[in-house]
Amino acid sequence: MTTLHPIPAPSDTAAHPRDRLGRALHDLRISVMDRCNFRCPYCMPESTYGEHFTFLRNDERLDFDEIERIARAAAGLGVSKLRLTGGEPLLRPHLVDLVRQLCGIEGIEDLAMTTNGVLLARHAQELREAGLHRVTVSLDTLDPALFHRMSGGRGRVADVLAGIDAALAAGFPGGVKVNTVVQKGVNDHAILDVLAHFRGTTVVPRLIEYMDVGNRNDWSPSRVLPSRELVERIAAKWPLQVLPARYPGEVASRYRFVDGAGEIGVISSISQPFCGDCSRARLSSEGTLYTCLFATRGTDLRLLLRGGASDEQLQVLLRDTWLRRADRYSEQRADLHTSSSRKIEMHYIGG
Ligand code: SAM
Ligand code: SF4
Ligand code: SF4
Repeated sequence: MTTLHPIPAPSDTAAHPRDRLGRALHDLRISVMDRCNFRCPYCMPESTYGEHFTFLRNDERLDFDEIERIARAAAGLGVSKLRLTGGEPLLRPHLVDLVRQLCGIEGIEDLAMTTNGVLLARHAQELREAGLHRVTVSLDTLDPALFHRMSGGRGRVADVLAGIDAALAAGFPGGVKVNTVVQKGVNDHAILDVLAHFRGTTVVPRLIEYMDVGNRNDWSPSRVLPSRELVERIAAKWPLQVLPARYPGEVASRYRFVDGAGEIGVISSISQPFCGDCSRARLSSEGTLYTCLFATRGTDLRLLLRGGASDEQLQVLLRDTWLRRADRYSEQRADLHTSSSRKIEMHYIGG
């Protein structure tokens, strides 16, 4: 297995393709499951994803060997970081086997997972042993009533916290982060409580501006609290010091508490877009490759895989898709927001 380093800087060689804006491909996010056991209103609102919603059939999702082939082809083009996501990745049966397969790919230095955490206590140890390098757990509030609202009435704060504890106990070498989506007027008043809970631990909370992903989450700019304002609020209670980025293109701006109680990150996708450094591709559970979180269309890799294509043909399609890429949605948001194009939904391609 490739040796894992805590936070690898992406490698960059001339052999690796660059898109039309000169960006290299370093990260691949893999959605292993379109279903979820939550119904967060900002991602999979119950009104749309009720009991009659049709999710993919098992045979429509890529199987583990197909995912491995794509990841291997991507590694050959410069991808060194993989992240498993969903929907809820821990709903995918035998996920630990996929982790083992992906860790064995030459060039993959970092394998992470984003989860809502409710099933994590059950799986943390085996995932760690299989080679998963780090875990991000989503948690928007510690207040049980607000949590209930923000998860669409599913799951419990206590289970998510138990998942985080289990992840800490398992000792993931890349550590444990918490993703908190901040919605003005919904949970912005509850952010200091989340930070207070993790101060003095190794868990790094990351505060994410609420984004207009998909078409069903009723997003409005008035629901976005710019990170700068949030950082001011936090610093008024616990003074903060800016930390340098660990590698070019790091998405989160990092801060440390001056009193030594740990670190936080803020992700300013709306107020300070970072498309110029965006090195990510996203693979949906049914095998479509997207080169932007806000894409309206993607490249069907499953068709190629199931049509008997060789590894070389697969890599050529991946390379060509990346070379054609010119996405910079977040930088153009204001112009595009009135567009009628349907974006891909978040639960198909993960965050
Ligand atoms: N179900 C897993 C989870 O919630 O962690 C993985 C998939 S979820 C789509 C990945 C991340 O996207 C989560 O941290 C979630 O909070 C974030 N997310 C979902 N909708 C969002 C939105 N509209 N704006 C910002 N982040 C969002
Ligand atoms: Fe599920 Fe994650 Fe979306 Fe919430 S954010 S509905 S937990 S996929
Ligand atoms: Fe990357 Fe698209 Fe997000 Fe810009 S909007 S940072 S191109 S995923």
